[in-house]
Amino acid sequence: MDFSSKLLENAVNEMSRLPGIGKRTALRLVLHLLKQPKENTAYLSEALLHLRNDMKNCEKCHNISDTVLCAICNNPKRNSEIICVVEDIRDVMAIESTSQFNGLYHVLGGKISPIEGIGPQNLKIDSLIKKVANEEVKELIFALSSTMEGDTTNFYIFKQIEKFNIKISTIARGISVGDELEYADEITLGRSIVHRIPFEQSIRG
Ligand SMILES: [Zn+2]
Repeated sequence: MDFSSKLLENAVNEMSRLPGIGKRTALRLVLHLLKQPKENTAYLSEALLHLRNDMKNCEKCHNISDTVLCAICNNPKRNSEIICVVEDIRDVMAIESTSQFNGLYHVLGGKISPIEGIGPQNLKIDSLIKKVANEEVKELIFALSSTMEGDTTNFYIFKQIEKFNIKISTIARGISVGDELEYADEITLGRSIVHRIPFEQSIRG
């Protein structure tokens, strides 16, 4: 791509670093911003900067939060005895939109993936195990996507916590194998949480 302007080239290059944004799309977005009032670009830049500077991770569940504890952990109406284990914040948002779950979450920040070099130590697994060991958790629900990495992660955590006297369940697989949670429709996902099954039953096949 030949640019007549260095300013344009820089903006397009930065924009095209985003996932799914090629150079052509980046150019279209940048030219769109140039046609809009200047304030729009300022609002966008400010929102992104605020997000990066002020965003926190909830100390309890590792969900993205504006405060030390996220709104879910801070809500006294939520049942703190049930914890739903998810990969990332998109899963929290997907499950919240079903309105079928009233417990708390634990956001792992990914799945165990030897190919990508992600081991248990790279995820928030230790804090989950501590939570189970120290707190009054009665049930843990695995809600990771049903991929090999998801299954490996479930099994790894299961092995660490099976000695504790808690109920361990997994969401029912109305969601077909390999599907990512965030793409499941709300009704299917809601049902799969309500009709969750004991984890040991799921690994026996
Ligand atoms: Zn939280």
